[in-house]
Amino acid sequence: MQRVRLLVFNPVLNVLDYRVPPGMAVELGSVVLAPLGPRQVLGIVWEPERLEGTEVPDAKLRPLLELLPVPPFPAPLRRLIEWCADYYVAPMNAVARMSLGSMAALRGGGTATEYRLSGVEPARLTPQRAAALDALHGEQASIRELAELASVSEGVLRGMVGAGLLEPVTVDLDRPYPRANPDFVQPQLNPDQQAAADQFVAAVEGHTFQPFLLDGVTGSGKTECYFEAVAQALRLRKQVLVLLPEIALTENFLRRFEARFGTPPVLWHSSLKQSERRRAWRAIVGGQAQVVVGARSALFMPYKALGLIVVDEAHEVSFKQDDGVRYNARDVAVIRARFESIPVILASATPALESLQLAEQGTYTKVDLPARFGGAELPDVQIVDLREEAPPRGRWLSPRLVSELKDRLLKGEQSLLFLNRRGYAPLTLCRHCGYRFQCPNCSAWLVEHRLSRRMACHHCGHQVGVPDECPECHTGDCLVACGPGVERIADEVVELLPEARLAVVTSDTLNSPEKISEFVAKAEAKAIDVIIGTQLVTKGYHFPELTLVGVIDADLGLEGGDLRAAERTYQQVAQVSGRAGRGEKPGEVLIQTRHPEAAVIAALAKGDRDAFYAAETEARRDAGAPPFGRWAAIIVSSEDEAEARDAARAIGGKRPNLPDVMVLGPAPAPLSLLRGRYRYRLLINARRSAQVQAVIREWLGQFTFPPGVRVGVDIDPYSFV
Ligand code: ADP
Ligand code: ZN
Repeated sequence: MQRVRLLVFNPVLNVLDYRVPPGMAVELGSVVLAPLGPRQVLGIVWEPERLEGTEVPDAKLRPLLELLPVPPFPAPLRRLIEWCADYYVAPMNAVARMSLGSMAALRGGGTATEYRLSGVEPARLTPQRAAALDALHGEQASIRELAELASVSEGVLRGMVGAGLLEPVTVDLDRPYPRANPDFVQPQLNPDQQAAADQFVAAVEGHTFQPFLLDGVTGSGKTECYFEAVAQALRLRKQVLVLLPEIALTENFLRRFEARFGTPPVLWHSSLKQSERRRAWRAIVGGQAQVVVGARSALFMPYKALGLIVVDEAHEVSFKQDDGVRYNARDVAVIRARFESIPVILASATPALESLQLAEQGTYTKVDLPARFGGAELPDVQIVDLREEAPPRGRWLSPRLVSELKDRLLKGEQSLLFLNRRGYAPLTLCRHCGYRFQCPNCSAWLVEHRLSRRMACHHCGHQVGVPDECPECHTGDCLVACGPGVERIADEVVELLPEARLAVVTSDTLNSPEKISEFVAKAEAKAIDVIIGTQLVTKGYHFPELTLVGVIDADLGLEGGDLRAAERTYQQVAQVSGRAGRGEKPGEVLIQTRHPEAAVIAALAKGDRDAFYAAETEARRDAGAPPFGRWAAIIVSSEDEAEARDAARAIGGKRPNLPDVMVLGPAPAPLSLLRGRYRYRLLINARRSAQVQAVIREWLGQFTFPPGVRVGVDIDPYSFV
C-alpha cells in the first residue's frame, strides 16, 4: 500500500495522511482531491518528513478521491512555500493557496460561456436595461462580471439574455497565446546598456542563481537592458516573470513589450476576468505562457520552466503585502530565484537601502547605468522654502512655482505637479460646531472627492454624499475643507492659468486600461499642459515635452513616524523629478518644503544620492533598524475593543526575555480602528543575531484566543499603522 501525506487547504487542519487507491499515479507535488468527513478537500502531496502530522495507522487511512490533471508542484516551489511559511510566520496552506488556481483552472480544458451585447435595439426598455446597455458596450464576460460592471442584478441580465439583447459566446479556455519573437525589433544599445545586457544574458544562459541590482538613473533605459535578458530566455524556451508594482504601470509596459517582441505578454493581476485568469493560469502551468507580467501575486504561480525573474521599480512599497500572508514580493522573488537556480534582476533608480547594502556586501551583483539615454541631462533641482516664499492664504502654489508654470505654458511645454493625496481635501469640518467628518469603521477622516461628489474613507471604502449642512449642528453652508488634495490643486491651477489644459491623475481618475491609454495618448500629443497627480505619475512615464516638475509638499511623507519615511520621500521625489527633461529640452524641479535643512531635502537639492544614503544609513544604524537590526510587528484585532485589548495585554505579559529582542507595547495601533476592527500592536526590535521567527512562534504558540480575535505577524513591516 502506498500512503501519502498532504498539505490540505482547510483553515483548521493543515496536514492529513491518505491512502493512494490502485491505479492512481501520484507523485510528490501532485494536486489531489481527498475526503474530509462528509466533504472533499484539496491537497498537495508533500514530503512526509517535511510536514509535521499525526501518524494514522494504515488501516484507518481513507483513499484519495481524484488526481487533478495539472503538473505536480515542482520541488523548488514546495521549498519556496515552506520558506515563506517559516520566514513570515504564516500557515503553510495559506502560502500555498497563492500558487493554486481555481477549481475550474485545476480541472482545465473545455470552454466557458461569456455574454456580450447582440446589437439588437429594442423598442422599449426598462431603465435598468437601458443602463446595462450603456455600460456594457464593448464588454464580454460572465453574467456575474457583467452584472458588476453595469451595477445591475444578474437577474436583469438573464432577462436580457432571454430577450435576445445579450448573446452567448463560447470561449476556448485553452486557446494559445501568440508567441513572442525575441528578435522582433533589436534596439541599438549604448555601451553602458550593452555591458549591463551582456551580464544579464550570460546569467540567463548560465541558469544559476544570480541576483542583480540594476541601479540606473531615471531615463537610463533599464527596461531596454533587461529586455535583452528576456529575449535570451525566450530563445532558450524559458519562462520569464516580470513583477511591476502597480497595474497602472502595465499599460505602458505592454506597449513597450509589444514594440520589442511583436506581441503583448501574458497579464496576471487581481482584476482579470475569471476566464482570463483560468486561461493564464493554465498557460503558466503548462509552459505556454512565455512572459508573465503581473502584480506580486504572480510570484507564487507554478511555472513550468522559469528562467528569469525581473522586479521593476524594486524599491516600491506596494510589493509589500499587508494582509493575509504578509510578505515582500521583492524579497520572495530573490528567494524563489535561489530555489529555482535562476537569475533575478531588481531594477530601480532609487534602490532600498537594504538592497544597496546587499550589493555592497557582494551578495547582489550591482549593475550601473549612470547616465540618461540619448544624452539627456538630469533635471536642475531647486528648493522653495515655504517659510520665505509662502503662497497666499488658502493656496498651495508658491509665487515662484506659479511663475515657472506660466513660463512653461507660454513656451508650450508641459508641467507636472505632484502631491500624494487623492481627492479635494483630507479633512472636512464644520466651521460652526467643529464637527469633523470621520469614518464610522476606521480611525480616519473622510476625504472629500469633489469630482465624484462624495466623502470617502481611503481605508475601507466607506462613502457618503457631500451634505449641504453639518450633520451635527445642522447649520447650512458651514463646511470647510482643510488642506489640499490633487483636486484642490487643480482648482488653484484653473484660477491661475485658466487657459491651461489639465489632467488629474490618481487611482480615482485612471482606473482602467482605456483611461490610462487615453491619458498617455493625450500627454504625448501635447493636448495636456499641466498634469496634477499622486504617486501614480511618479514613475514609468516618458513625456519628452515635460520640462517642469513641482513637488507641492515634500514634507508630507516625513510625517507619521514611519521607519522608512525619509527613504520613501527621497524615492518619491527623485522618481517624480525623473519625469522632467527626458527629451531634448532640459528639465527643472521645484521642491516646496518647510524643512530645507532636513537631510533628505538637502540631498535632493544637491542631487547627492550618496549623501542621502550615508545619512540614512547612520540613522538606521542608530535605531537598530534594517539592515542593521530587524523589526517585526504583532497586530491583534477584534470587533470588540476590550477583547482585542485583553488579548494584546496577555501577549505582552508573556513577552520573551532575551538580550537581543526588545518588545514595545502593546499600544493601540495608529490606525486603532480599521474596517470595524479595533487594533492593538506590539513592535519587536531585534538584533540580527536573534531568531525572531522562532521566538515569535513559540511566544504566540502558548495562547488560545477567542474566535473573534485575530493575531497577525508582520515580519519586516513597512507600514507602522
Ligand atoms: P528607465 O526605466 O531607466 O527610466 P526607460 O527604459 O524608460 O528608462 O528608457 C527611457 C527612454 O529611453 C524610453 O523611451 C526608452 O524607449 C528610450 N531608450 C532607452 N534606451 C534606448 C535604446 N538603446 N534605444 C532606443 N531607445 C532607448
Ligand atoms: Zn473606513
